[in-house]
Amino acid sequence: MAGFGQHDTSRALHDGTDSFPPAMKILVVGSGGREHALCWAIAASPLCRKLYCAPGNAGIAREATCVAIAVDDHDGLVRFAREQAIDFAVVGPEQPLVDGLVDRFAAAGIKAFGPGAAAAALEGSKGFMKDIAARHGVPTAAYRRFTDAEAAHAYVREHGAPIVVKTDGLAAGKGVVVAATLDEALAAIDAAMIGGAFGKAGTELVIEEFLDGEEASFFALCDGEHAIALAAAQDHKRVGDGDTGPNTGGMGAYSPAPVVDSTMAERIMAEIVRPTLTAMRAEGRPFKGVLFAGVMITASGPKLIEYNVRFGDPETQVLVPRLMSDLLPALIAAADGQLGTYHLRWHDTVALTVVMAATGYPGGYARGSEIRGIERAEAMKDVLVFHAATALRDGKLVATGGRVLTVTAMGRNVAEAQANAYAAIDAIDWPGGFCRRDIGWRAIAREKSAR
Ligand code: AMP
Repeated sequence: MAGFGQHDTSRALHDGTDSFPPAMKILVVGSGGREHALCWAIAASPLCRKLYCAPGNAGIAREATCVAIAVDDHDGLVRFAREQAIDFAVVGPEQPLVDGLVDRFAAAGIKAFGPGAAAAALEGSKGFMKDIAARHGVPTAAYRRFTDAEAAHAYVREHGAPIVVKTDGLAAGKGVVVAATLDEALAAIDAAMIGGAFGKAGTELVIEEFLDGEEASFFALCDGEHAIALAAAQDHKRVGDGDTGPNTGGMGAYSPAPVVDSTMAERIMAEIVRPTLTAMRAEGRPFKGVLFAGVMITASGPKLIEYNVRFGDPETQVLVPRLMSDLLPALIAAADGQLGTYHLRWHDTVALTVVMAATGYPGGYARGSEIRGIERAEAMKDVLVFHAATALRDGKLVATGGRVLTVTAMGRNVAEAQANAYAAIDAIDWPGGFCRRDIGWRAIAREKSAR
């Protein structure tokens, strides 16, 4: 991966981490582009002797030994970690965090990165997250929780549109309807509560005020007591150019986010992240791991839209390449409660990632189409290709999911990073896939108007 050898690993052993065993066995749990980026960074750490990923994918297999254990097989993961004497586990996706995998690792004596189930409720239950924010003065949209469709109908009739209807539980990013009309809001309530569109996740709803502004994702590393800012990013959720069409898991991202300058980042830390950490400690659920705040930058300042309790996907694919410091000791310091004096250094460049998805995504799509030419893209300067859903079959690389590759490139500004990313994408030969051609458009328009 040309041009990406710049990890500043020299600092790793001087960050208060001297007591770590010099070479550790690490297990990363997950199989997406996020986990590929995490594995890429962890494999480069001098603290890492052996890296496993469960279950991983064909790209991750170049950084780690992949083991065929599913992320929901907690017994299997804990057994494997004990058998292999894993020193540190990093849990990527939200579902196993919400389901208590980090607690299971802890009970087995295995140190792990990520919140336990009690703290992961910040993502697992929107109602819980809203109540915490409301009780502790974290700025967020006005809201009410509902378990009864009639009461929910009455509330939206009273407040009118636009209004936002959210399932309480995890719904794979599909449980939020930003309703432009009253009818849309009523239909969203009925689909979740009467139609059962989201199963148990939709039996309770949060209905909240529509926030107007520009959205950004803000990441902070937390050790239960202290938080350090990582970086901000912006992503594109809609499948089509110009941010049109259905929502997806994310079609691309870039970092830094121009709306989050250093003053705004400090406001988000002071008004949202630190009060949340204090609140979680006060309520007996200290939060360790990555706090990923979806924030709306409104005319009256930053407001919390939602919390995720893990690294973002595809945001990790733009955060990790910008990190100059060694990621692994920072994750360990978070798990150990040692972030109080921790400091991370960042490359002063922009990273932009474009998701390549199987044709048809986010609707139905075929699996098994062949992908060629990745090595041509990887040979380009400042380009990294992270795999999200690939496998090797009979020596051929094939797509095994909806979002399949994330192609990250660096540049001095968003426009340059975008040009580099699309040059790399154009070198990849995958007739069964597509991507958006305009990732970063808003930031590029801003760069042009600033000139
Ligand atoms: P969430 O899963 O809560 O992040 O919601 C998904 C998306 O819906 C967010 O990324 C926003 O674009 C939008 N959204 C959620 N809540 C609000 C809100 N209160 N006002 C405006 N847009 C929202």
